[in-house]
Amino acid sequence: MSVTENKNVRVRFAPSPTGALHIGGGHTALFNWLWARHTGGKFILRIEDTDLVRSTKEYEQTIMSGMKWLGLDWDEGVDIGGDYGPYRQSERLDLYKKYAEQLLDEGKAYKDGEAIIFKTEPGQDISFDDIVYGRVEVNSDGLREKDSDKLKDIVIIKSDGMPTYNYAVVVDDHLMQISHVIRGEDHISNTPKQILLYRALNWEVPTFAHLPMILGRDKKKLSKRHGATSIYEYRDMGYMPDSVFNFLALLGWSAGDDKEIFTRSEAADLFELSKVARRPAVFDFDKLNYINQEHLKRLEPLTRLNMVAPFWGEAGLDVEAVKNSRGEKWLADALTLMAGRGRTAKEMAEFSDYFVSFEPVKQRWNADELDKDKLKKFYEFVFAAKDFKASELEELARKWVEENGVKMKDYAMPLRYALTGMKVSPGIFEVAEHLGREECEKRLKFFGLL
Ligand code: GLU
Repeated sequence: MSVTENKNVRVRFAPSPTGALHIGGGHTALFNWLWARHTGGKFILRIEDTDLVRSTKEYEQTIMSGMKWLGLDWDEGVDIGGDYGPYRQSERLDLYKKYAEQLLDEGKAYKDGEAIIFKTEPGQDISFDDIVYGRVEVNSDGLREKDSDKLKDIVIIKSDGMPTYNYAVVVDDHLMQISHVIRGEDHISNTPKQILLYRALNWEVPTFAHLPMILGRDKKKLSKRHGATSIYEYRDMGYMPDSVFNFLALLGWSAGDDKEIFTRSEAADLFELSKVARRPAVFDFDKLNYINQEHLKRLEPLTRLNMVAPFWGEAGLDVEAVKNSRGEKWLADALTLMAGRGRTAKEMAEFSDYFVSFEPVKQRWNADELDKDKLKKFYEFVFAAKDFKASELEELARKWVEENGVKMKDYAMPLRYALTGMKVSPGIFEVAEHLGREECEKRLKFFGLL
């Protein structure tokens, strides 16, 4: 049986609820999800809240809602339970105690006050084969105290009775029957210590896959300096969950054949843990924008409207009023007319605000130098169009400029400006047709152009 058909795959995302879901966490969660969905295995959400001071239930909630926003669902976890619970480390203290006592009884650990410390034995080969990083060669002799010859023992229970990360993670991954530990490469140096603990407890060591580091464009580790780091900031900037998912999946993995735009289920079908690249992945905003734009283009008109409408609302435009007077479909069709202009839903909302309201057009308007009398004659001629269809408007416009020996752009540009308040827009005759005769005349009259 190939590993990709392995229904016994059990993977987990194990965030500490000490902050929002950030890019790195979302990336780790996503790769675990992809592997579980690809293999038909299980994806587990475990909350590592042993840092009682910094952990909060609010962060737990925001992490979960961030995962849901990305479209990552889990099969076992704090909120839905499962056969291997509890899924919150603070509720598993008796288990950590039990195995710590076992290690004490077997002479593999010792007490130092209230703390329990695992004794690192010298000369042990604790190398491992990482799916991404390949062979990682380590000997326990390398685990030394800083600037000293003394081997570094591993604290497993702190004096306050709480387990340490390296110990709790081993107990939980074993008891939850985790097959693959997929996590950020910042944990690679913890892995040998964890392997020592697995061995001391006579437990099978899971397979490790450490994900590449994510860097900013300057090749420095991604941080606040590079801009938004929490997943929700991307939502608020108007990026779609489908695109953020697509973008994160491409950090360290590729679907092959230069395929860059895909859905979640396409990604799950194609994903291979063994294809994850070891070299650091660069977070490239241009790429995210491109991916988002592609996903926006592919949306069903009404779904696209639902993405964009909140940003019109945020800009103070009365979307409901337009829905009531013109209908949802009319607004959705206006966005279809935008034909992929705007890289985010927010940008698309900004670029198309004139469909929702005349107010922003008035605010942008500033055209004192226009020769209104000349323009008036042109607009009167064009607006006499019987059906007010784009093709008809354009034909009349061509006829007029030809007969008068003038340039189309000198007349079409002010028309665009008067209808949209923008220097760029979709074809202005299409925009005019969609706005309709009544609205167009209202706008031109307001500016004294008709
Ligand atoms: N709570 C750890 C973290 O958030 C989990 C690391 C792991 O997956 O082992 O970094």
